[in-house]
Parts: sequence; structure tokens; C-alpha cells
Amino acid sequence: MDRYNMIINGEAVGAVGHQWAAVINPATESAISEVPQADAADVNRAVAAAATAFLSWAKTAPVERSLLLLKLADALEAKAVDLTRMESLNVGKPMKLAANGDIPFAIDNLRYFAGQARLVDGTASQEFVGGYTSVLRREPIGVVASIAPWNYPLMMAAWKIAPAVAAGNTVVIKPAPQTPLTTLMLAETALEVGFPPGVINVITGEGTSVGEPLVTHPQVRMVSFTGSTRTGQRIMALAAQKVTRVHLELGGKAPLIVFADADLEAAARGAIVGAYVNTGQDCTAATRILVERSCYAEFLARFTELSQQVRMGSPESETTDMGPLISALQRQRVHGFVERAVALGIPLHLGGGLPEGAGFFYPPTIFTGAAADSEIMQEEVFGPVVVVNAFDSEVEAIAVANGVQYGLAASVWTQEITRAWRVSQALEFGTVWVNDHLPLASEMPHGGFKASGFGKDLSRYAFEEYSIAKHVMFDLTGVAKKPWHFTAFGDAD
Ligand code: NAD
Repeated sequence: MDRYNMIINGEAVGAVGHQWAAVINPATESAISEVPQADAADVNRAVAAAATAFLSWAKTAPVERSLLLLKLADALEAKAVDLTRMESLNVGKPMKLAANGDIPFAIDNLRYFAGQARLVDGTASQEFVGGYTSVLRREPIGVVASIAPWNYPLMMAAWKIAPAVAAGNTVVIKPAPQTPLTTLMLAETALEVGFPPGVINVITGEGTSVGEPLVTHPQVRMVSFTGSTRTGQRIMALAAQKVTRVHLELGGKAPLIVFADADLEAAARGAIVGAYVNTGQDCTAATRILVERSCYAEFLARFTELSQQVRMGSPESETTDMGPLISALQRQRVHGFVERAVALGIPLHLGGGLPEGAGFFYPPTIFTGAAADSEIMQEEVFGPVVVVNAFDSEVEAIAVANGVQYGLAASVWTQEITRAWRVSQALEFGTVWVNDHLPLASEMPHGGFKASGFGKDLSRYAFEEYSIAKHVMFDLTGVAKKPWHFTAFGDAD
């Protein structure tokens, strides 16, 4: 079994405490590798390396950072087959999803931020107050601590590392303990293409033993976190101790709203993809499907039929649509939601059982007619479990859609243009799709409203998140006693 080391200061290293943790293939439950189990001593090493590297990296010309990101993208593209295989093995992700989704999108993100690195803009310098020229500088922040979830490991690493280093910061990233392997491959590749030691560091381990010392480290200037809302709240509280900046991409509970005038076949297919992609372990997953009553029965019949056609199985097979959940714990959580909904008397329309055999598989599961305030309508399940509910009016659909703590993504399905505009405006979510659900673009922001967090990933808005605005004001007069000084000292002339 291969052991993977962490990357600290340009070197592949084990943990100071010599501890190792197994990395599990969720489709077979067997160990595929071991990675160091780091602790606070390793956090100190990694942050020190990033802080030292920042002194020179922050001063590199944008073109230099841009070229390195382009080289990294090319080198990862050359390793796409290996990365696909590893992501599939480690996450239980179907090969076709990793090959056509995660890996190429992560590479595209790197190329996008390579371009952004050279587009640092500010307002024109100007004499806003007579006798002074004001200049706006955008500067890197310093050492960024990034903490990632397990659902899209390489993509999350790219979303976090690329805008940060493009803007001149250095990074210490902690991948999720379940899925560290492709992030380590990315950091190794970054060294191969010439990123200086210490610019990108990867540290592996648990949230409490590594994540918390990282968030509270005095030399960390910003924490960029993607994960659950509960962990986000904890990180925000820890970061408050030193008023460290936070960027939080948290959970979701996306509504998918189908009006009777929609193309129902398109809506049913969109709902399948939205609900079951990545085994429902997607922060934008369509988990609350709201359908206008007059087409509810027809939609539900088609959605159920398509749900039964989802091919669950080995992620290695080219024809598998849905792999396992990430872990035994996650499957237990998902099944707990299902059992509690059943106990409440919410009709279980499809699925819901625990399959026999190895692997953390869970079938497509549909509830119907759940009360808007029930747990299954309110809480993020993070598995292939959806509710399909009927609604009677646009006002009701919007109220139910907005009636959760989350605000990450939503979709509206209708052929009527005025309704599409009206509803997309009324929905309190960071992304609203019209007649589709899921696609993202490197050029457009991704991020939440409400308890889904704040700060944007992707786009120039992410680039801005990783830099800080500074006002530099030049006196143009050279006069010792300025006309306004009398307000604080002496008399007016
Ligand atoms: P999680 O919150 O359990 O863990 C995320 C990361 O935080 C892991 O690396 C974990 O080790 C670390 N962590 C845990 N406790 C910590 C602590 N006390 N201090 C510091 N770090 C800690 O989330 P998860 O289960 O890995 O991922 C699923 C969640 O991520 C879902 O809620 C999902 O919606 C969310 N997510 C959001 C987005 C988005 O863009 N908004 C994208 C992907 C996933």
C-alpha cells in the first residue's frame, strides 16, 4: 500500500508525531493508502513555511504567478487519467463524473485564475481632496488557511489555491481526512512546474487536531473554509478571537421549482441529475422538488421512473451513474434522516433501504408530501434523498423555497419569461438556474446567502476575496503647516 506524504516547504514529509491514518475506498471499504496524521506541531511548520514564502511570493510579478498557474494546469491535464482514477477510487465517484466533471473543471479554474492574476484593477488614482493624490492598491493578505470538504476534493483544492496564489498569498490547505490524495498530487505537481517551496503546503489530518490549530494560528491572516454550516459556525467563532478574515462556503438545501407550463421531461431529467449527482453529496443538490399541483402526478411518475433507472454500482464501471456515499458514518447519518422521516409518517415513495454487501451504497430515495417545517425539508441530508411536494401558487412555492436557513442554489422551471425573471429575483439563493440545475462557470461567482455562508468562490469576486484594498494618499504640496492643521493644533492663518 502506497503511503503519501504531506507537502510542507517544498518537501514531502511525514507528521512530526509519526502517526498515519488509512484512506479508505468507500466502494470496497478497503484501505487504499495511508497519509500522515498531523497535529499542531505540523501546523506550526506549515504556517512558518508559508509565512516565509509569502515575503517573496507577494512581490512576484502577476505574470510570473499567472504563468506558473498555466503550467500547473497543463501538467495536471497531462496527468488527467491518473487524477481521474484517484478521485474515483478515493471518493467513490463514478469514473465518468470525475473524468468529465471534477478534473477538467478544476483545470479550467486554474486557467481562469491564471488570467485573473494579471487583471488587478483599482480605481484611477485621483485628487479627491485638494492637494493629495489617492491611490488604491490591492495587496495580498498573507498566509491563507484553507479547509476543504470531501465531496469534490481536487475541485475544492483548485477553487481555494488558485485565487489565493494568483493574488500573491501563500496557502496551507487541509483536505478532508477522507479524501487527501488528489490535493497532495496537485501540490506535488505544483512543485514540479516550479512553484517555490512554501507557496502551496498541504497538511493532512482531522478537524480538531489540525483544523483548529490552523484557524487560530497567529500567522494565519485568512481562513477559507468549505464544509458544513455547523463547522463553519465553529470556525467563525475561533477566527473571531484574533479577528481573522473568514470566507465560508457552507451547506445547502436547494429547491427545484417546476411550474405546470415547464417542459416536464426536461424538468424530470434535470431533477435526476440535480438530486443524485455525486450520490447527492453536493452542496447545490436539488433536494426539495416543488411541483405545481396540476402537473404533480405526471412529474412524480416520470421522476420515479427515471430514479429507478439510475445505475448504482462500482465507480470503476463506465456505466455507473451513482457510487457509494463517502463513509459508514455518512451512510448512517443519511439513513438516520430517512428513518426519522418515516417515523414521522412522511410517505416514503421510493428507496430508503440499506443495501447488502461491501461499500457505503445508498439507493435513490424519494419522500412525498413532507411538511415544510419537517426535518427532511429543513436539514441538509447530503445523500441521494429528496422530497417531492405539490404547491398551489407561485407565492406559496417561493415561500416554501425560501423557508430554510440555507441559501446556496435553486432552480426554476417554466416556459414563461416573466415568471422566470420574477421567481429568480424572489429566490434568496446565491445561484438560481432557469430550466436547468447544476452547471457552474469559472467566470461566475459561486457562494451562499444566509447560513450557506459568505464570500464567493470562482470569478473575479473570489480573486477580490483573497486581496485587501489599501488607500495610499500622497501629499502634493510639500508644505509643513497645512491649511487644515489648525483644527487639531494652533490657529488658522
Ligand atoms: P465538514 O464540515 O464535516 O468538514 C469540512 C472540513 O472541515 C474537513 O476538512 C474537516 O476535517 C474540517 N473540520 C471539521 N471540524 C473542524 C474544526 N472544528 N475546525 C477546523 N476544521 C474542521 O464537512 P464535510 O462533511 O467534509 O463536507 C460536507 C459539507 O460541505 C456539506 O455541508 C456541504 O454542503 C458543504 N459543501 C459546501 C460547498 C459550497 O460551495 N458551499 C461545497 C462543497 C461542500
